[in-house]
Amino acid sequence: MALFSIARRLKKIVGKDAVLSDRADLMLYEYDGGVQRALPQAVAFPTTTEQVSRIVRLCAKEKVPIVPRGAGTGLSGGALARTGGVILGFSRMNRILEVDVANQRAVVQPGLVNWELSQAMAKHGLYFAPDPSSQKACTIGGNVAENSGGPHTLAYGVTVNHVTGLEVVLADGRVVNFGGKSAETLGYDLTGFFVGSEGTLGIATAITVKLTRLPEAVATLLAIFDSVDAAAQTVVALTAAGITPAALELLDGWTLRTVEEAVHAGYPLDAGAVLLIELEGMREAVDGQKAAVVAVCDRLARETRVAKDEAERQRLWAGRKNAFGAIGRVSPSYYTQDGVIPRTRIPDTLRRIAEIAAQQRLTIGNVFHAGDGNLHPLILFDARDHDQLERTRVAGRQILEYCLSVGGSITGEHGVGMEKSEILPLMFAASDLDVMQRLHDAFNPNALLNPQKIFPMARSCRETDAARHPAAGLDS
Ligand SMILES: Cc1cc2nc3c(=O)[nH]c(=O)nc-3n(C[C@H](O)[C@H](O)[C@H](O)COP(=O)(O)OP(=O)(O)OC[C@H]3O[C@@H](n4cnc5c(N)ncnc54)[C@H](O)[C@@H]3O)c2cc1C
Repeated sequence: MALFSIARRLKKIVGKDAVLSDRADLMLYEYDGGVQRALPQAVAFPTTTEQVSRIVRLCAKEKVPIVPRGAGTGLSGGALARTGGVILGFSRMNRILEVDVANQRAVVQPGLVNWELSQAMAKHGLYFAPDPSSQKACTIGGNVAENSGGPHTLAYGVTVNHVTGLEVVLADGRVVNFGGKSAETLGYDLTGFFVGSEGTLGIATAITVKLTRLPEAVATLLAIFDSVDAAAQTVVALTAAGITPAALELLDGWTLRTVEEAVHAGYPLDAGAVLLIELEGMREAVDGQKAAVVAVCDRLARETRVAKDEAERQRLWAGRKNAFGAIGRVSPSYYTQDGVIPRTRIPDTLRRIAEIAAQQRLTIGNVFHAGDGNLHPLILFDARDHDQLERTRVAGRQILEYCLSVGGSITGEHGVGMEKSEILPLMFAASDLDVMQRLHDAFNPNALLNPQKIFPMARSCRETDAARHPAAGLDS
């Protein structure tokens, strides 16, 4: 079958108004907030699992690559059609299918926005614990594929700890179910295996999530420091004192000033850094912890404030959750790195990042999940200046190399995608990568599901010609 008829056949499956193939429309799908670009040849918006299955069968038959996409906030190029082909957009599969309040479970479609699930569950006294800072846009399908975390990962864990079952469309179009509503798994934990696989093992079409009880009490504190070093040392001191806050976020001086100018969160403009600390639980326990946290922070902090009401709490969080957007106002482009280090290494890693910024003549801001040691250095650059772009790439790589040298990881929560595939061998031995590749090949034998992601290109040479030489010339 001629490739140009694919878009027409997609329309037969999902309807005329659910396929895009004009270049102007497709350009909206060529990025995901990161620095990479790749243009798909068609975008289809299914509404049912059956439609997804039929699209996957069609693409398998015609050897057309297929890339699932939630909100496109992934930041590592994971949702881009690197080798062309069809993007499967989940914005129309966004319903809550079932709520089981007594057993604290919900079954949702993959395109449901993370924030909307928690909003809908609030009336039952429940919420979905994984809370990426992008939660007002990102989808549960994207969270599953990236094994996303967020400010509250420190206390509640990442997405894999909150997903018990999945309905998945496999590379040949078959629909299978992994896990279910029970927390215990019999046999291989295929749900756990699938979470974090970045759309390379199958396509999630329904997700069973664990819901968490809203805490009885919440307290949010802002500890203000003269230096970033003092804030970093306090992170270590808090955990050494046996305190596990629900969230522990750090913003350095440059970042908090940039945020404050945009968001008016109430951060002091002359500080070297702030820690945003959240405590949750039974009222008495939170009160006790609050006093303990203030005592530890006050050793090095200039001041430790406790939000006096919900409005102030929301304001403090608005600063953190809108930080990336605020930085977008002051630079033509910025590159959000994502690396992990043991939290005891935060002070020296931040010093190393400052050194790299000076060496590469770049501004690098830091706002991150300090409790988990999950860094997000924000490197400011102008994409029109090739030399700056190159220095930005070098700085990003130097930061990740430092993370690895202190026993960390090259990604915490944004995935490998296409951004980090070439540096994956810095983290894994060839034999480790080989095992992963064999699992990949068992589920995705023709590499048509999100091709050339995660694994370095040399390994991807096992992929089919169709995936390496994209389906040129698709049109309507
Ligand atoms: C401002 C900002 C703040 C962020 N903060 C955080 C944070 O605190 N924590 C965090 O973890 N991340 C964060 N991120 C990254 C991102 O939001 C998360 O990785 C999120 O889970 C991606 O969801 P999405 O719906 O946008 O997925 P997309 O970007 O659309 O896709 C991500 C990956 O999932 C795959 N995928 C999507 N849907 C499916 C499906 N149904 N089946 C199989 N694969 C699928 C895609 O192919 C792609 O590989 C942030 C991003 C931004 C822009």
